[in-house]
Amino acid sequence: MTKYIGLIGYPLGHSISPIFQQAALDSLGLDVVYQAWEMEPSRLEEAIKRLRDPAHLGANVTVPHKETVIPMLDQIDDAARRIGAVNTIVSKDGRLEGHNTDHIGFMRALKEASYDPTGKNALILGAGGAARAVVYALMDAGAHSLIIVNRTRERAQALADELAGASPLGAVHVTASPWTPKLIATILEEPHLLVNCTSIGMRHSPTEEQSPLDGMVIPRETVVYDLVYNPLETSLLRQAREAGCVTIGGLPMLIYQGAAAFELWTGHAAPVNVMMAAARDALGG
Ligand code: NAP
Repeated sequence: MTKYIGLIGYPLGHSISPIFQQAALDSLGLDVVYQAWEMEPSRLEEAIKRLRDPAHLGANVTVPHKETVIPMLDQIDDAARRIGAVNTIVSKDGRLEGHNTDHIGFMRALKEASYDPTGKNALILGAGGAARAVVYALMDAGAHSLIIVNRTRERAQALADELAGASPLGAVHVTASPWTPKLIATILEEPHLLVNCTSIGMRHSPTEEQSPLDGMVIPRETVVYDLVYNPLETSLLRQAREAGCVTIGGLPMLIYQGAAAFELWTGHAAPVNVMMAAARDALGG
């Protein structure tokens, strides 16, 4: 019997998850169809109910449902509980388990770029769902200090307050700072990992081709990681490359978070190379 996996979000217009997940399922000869379920918030319960049907293996969850879905599930794993967001649901015998694989994808791509955040400083731009996963991953990896900067300052402050003292390894300093070019430049005078967790620069968005640090000179000691994966090289990454920085794009994280979800649904090792090739093809790169 054919099984199904859903992608639940709103809107879903430009998501490439259906393309690389289906390529992975097909390459292993699995009789599973990965479908995009574009659901407004008022239809989220309907999507979750559908997942309890035995024909469904689970789902990916994306903006704007990653937090609101939590009370609709039977169980959530420790990482999703700490991050406060679910991006993967596994359906087993009608019960729904929530997981978060964004932090796994983020760390795997960082490791692949040979960057060890232990004892290092990081500047996080953004305070949404992705930023929460990144901050938790860096705390668990033993980063020394994390500074969160967000357009809506209160959101950054709330996240920093929530995390202060919450590190399993102890001495991580988490603070929020206003988003002003002068302050960001001062912070970057010390070597930092800079992670863009905002959607600035995303293709097909109002900020397409913009950089969160437009007009700034980024010191070459900064390692710049942009979670935005479309285009493959964002304006921020180009600006950083031209300044001589090490850069990490968002595509490897996208593939690795998807690979971790794939393994939870199917129990098979994810064919990462197939997923990467299908994604690159879809993005035209
Ligand atoms: P989200 O929860 O909606 O958060 C969006 C963040 O971007 C907020 O901090 C928001 O600031 C900020 N933002 C949006 N537009 C802005 C603008 N014009 N100027 C300044 N800040 C702006 O979304 P999310 O889930 O965290 O995702 C954020 C980005 O990461 C998206 O582009 C997403 O595609 C990407 N992402 C990539 C991966 C991957 O695997 N590579 C995984 C997850 C997410 P406010 O709080 O002020 O609104």
